[in-house]
Amino acid sequence: MADYQEHLPALDRVLAHARGSAFYGSRLPRTSLRTWNDFTALPLTTRVDLRRHSPHGLICVPGRELLQYHESSATTGEPVSVWYSARDLAEIRGGLARWGVGLSAGDRVLVRFPYALSTIGHCIHAAAQHRGACVIPADSRTTITPLSRVLELMRKLEVTVLATISLTAVMIAEAAEMAGLDPRRDFPRLRAICCAGEPLSPHRRELVGSLFGVPVYDNYGMTETGPLAMDCAERRLHPWLDQVVMEVLDDRLEREVAAGEIGHLVVTSLTPRAVPMIRYLTGDRVRRSEAPCPCGRGDVLEVRGRAEDVLSIQGRVFDLWELDAIVSRLPSRRFWTVSPLPDGLRFVVERERDEDHVEPALLAALTRDHGAAVQVELAPKGALYDRREPVSFGMMSKPVYVTA
Ligand SMILES: [Zn+2]
Repeated sequence: MADYQEHLPALDRVLAHARGSAFYGSRLPRTSLRTWNDFTALPLTTRVDLRRHSPHGLICVPGRELLQYHESSATTGEPVSVWYSARDLAEIRGGLARWGVGLSAGDRVLVRFPYALSTIGHCIHAAAQHRGACVIPADSRTTITPLSRVLELMRKLEVTVLATISLTAVMIAEAAEMAGLDPRRDFPRLRAICCAGEPLSPHRRELVGSLFGVPVYDNYGMTETGPLAMDCAERRLHPWLDQVVMEVLDDRLEREVAAGEIGHLVVTSLTPRAVPMIRYLTGDRVRRSEAPCPCGRGDVLEVRGRAEDVLSIQGRVFDLWELDAIVSRLPSRRFWTVSPLPDGLRFVVERERDEDHVEPALLAALTRDHGAAVQVELAPKGALYDRREPVSFGMMSKPVYVTA
């Protein structure tokens, strides 16, 4: 898509740096890049590669320079190890500190992410403090901070910014309602919600914003890479092109798709990270568009969800954004899962109000508009996320929407 010729000197430096690791040293050519095609001829790095060579095989700096260790949340197989140097952490902190939400002294930022081994909570924590904001670390996977305590902290400390996974923000709103609170009224100092950790579709952004009555800012990244894109003050997601080169490849992972088309995101570090990524296949489907933004940048990223979560129904592809678009038209839309049918999609959605029901005309309209039969089961509250589980309604790993 883009002309990356100007990045070749920086990429050459990163490749020379990467050859210092056992993994990259044995698979990267020793010649310098002359053309962009030389770069795209390099092999893709996969998550399997990272797993196989963890914990030490991808480190490219002397051991004494390593300052922080993380592991990816491994649902299957061996975890992926990620090490950061002081330089890496400063780079990430400095980038995140420019988040469009405008964190500053006087803010009280409640960080509701998993802290153990995961990266994002620590990155936001450091960036907020870098801007002088006060941080309230409220780990999402410990009994020390169940949702009831999060509500208590948000109220008594007059939290101004809630940083969390978007689905967790929905859970916090629900927990507030269960406690007799109105999330739009009873957190009067709350001014913004900062999301990370899962793709934020336009409808999820709208849902979270409407529950709390405040703007919602997005951030995109993963443990292996650190943050990769972030909302500006206009709430548009811009890639961190000073820290990473992004390619968007077709389904065969051979060529870049045209601008504005959806493809598979491949990232390469542009700076000498302790564990640099060289043509790392992220597993996420994205769309890059060159739409001018009032902030001055012109490159907007849509993160459409994991490639493995795409449902293909009679040749028609449904990704998280489109699935969420369908749910957004239902009377209940907070908590849902979807599974494939031979000719369509079957949603299970937790009922929000007793009177909610799905009209046949709505199902017919959804089927017509999305090109697949749509079935919806409105299930009782708690059918998907157990409200008796105090920590996070029982969600102890990443949100799951697509089921078998
Ligand atoms: Zn912008």
